[in-house]
Amino acid sequence: MTDFADDSILVLLESAPGGGLAKSAAALVGAAAAVGTPVALVVTAPGDGAAAAAAAGALGASTVLVAEAADAATALAVPTVDALAAAADLVRPDAVLISNSLDGRDVAGRFAARTRSGIAADAVAISRDAEGIVAHHSVYGGAYNVDSAVTWGAPVITVRQGAIDLRADAQTPVVETLAVTPSGAAAASVVSFAESTETSSRPELRGAAKVVSGGRGLGSQEQFALVEQLADALGAAIGASRAAVDAGYIPQSHQVGQTGVSVSPQLYVALGISGAIQHRAGMQTAKTIVAINKDADAPIFDIADFGVVGDLFTVVPQLITALQARKA
Ligand code: FAD
Repeated sequence: MTDFADDSILVLLESAPGGGLAKSAAALVGAAAAVGTPVALVVTAPGDGAAAAAAAGALGASTVLVAEAADAATALAVPTVDALAAAADLVRPDAVLISNSLDGRDVAGRFAARTRSGIAADAVAISRDAEGIVAHHSVYGGAYNVDSAVTWGAPVITVRQGAIDLRADAQTPVVETLAVTPSGAAAASVVSFAESTETSSRPELRGAAKVVSGGRGLGSQEQFALVEQLADALGAAIGASRAAVDAGYIPQSHQVGQTGVSVSPQLYVALGISGAIQHRAGMQTAKTIVAINKDADAPIFDIADFGVVGDLFTVVPQLITALQARKA
């Protein structure tokens, strides 16, 4: 039986739908390594555990617990929560880190309720002080930074995808098979599914390093193509304001903001977006924000690192030409 370090941080690493670990895994292990000793948990279908454990080691996990469950891919959340409960019992971590993804939030909420743990949702950074692990959040559209800590036990912290740049050094991990007793808790099951046929070569919005977003200022669905052209020139994912979505320029899955996706890319380019607080809620933690808007008083300029006051239909084609000239 492995001895676990006193400063262990238990990290749940999700699998990607197409195999391998989810993109969120590297930042979770990196964040854990900065405040303690990362112990990764992977929950996989039978036979997939060894590959997942090796991938977790490459990301810097010194110990990997492998739980192989026959229903890992079909029963929603419960097998993972059962495994997480068994792992937490074994490791006695200082904190449990989980991605703030759809599945991660589901697992985190159930696990916290089952173990009576405090939960800190949507952290953008983690630190340790004399009393334990502290989660840092960016709230109300990035207008406030909030620190949260629990007063008992280990906090369950969900981490915003793309928010943490820290990466850990690769390890040759100690791999241990985790014995999990199924709780028998009711779980929704996936009876069948149809694979999405989206064939975009563009990066996915969640977790993208670069995002180009368009707002009502684009004026029409046809003209929204300009956002796509700039995104392609930069190799970026496409986002949108709610006004652009409501006007039918682009599907809702691209909406950035309070009621859409939260992103924390290296670069966020806002085209014809005013910068309403509900939009900022989903992008204010971007490392570099560039705004192009014809209204010099648009609130997006309050948070932009670089701003161009001008007509986007004049500025953006020039920007695309300049980017293409650089590549040539
Ligand atoms: P506008 O505010 O109309 O801004 C358009 C901008 O384009 C203007 O600043 C204008 O100067 C500029 N412009 C126009 N033409 C040009 C041009 N030719 N060149 C350059 N600039 C030009 N919004 C979100 O985005 N995401 C959310 O998740 C979200 N959730 C919400 C939840 C709630 C409960 C509520 C009440 C609102 C929410 N909203 C959300 C809506 C939000 O309040 C704003 O209405 C929305 O963000 C505005 O979108 P916009 O900036 O594209 O449009």
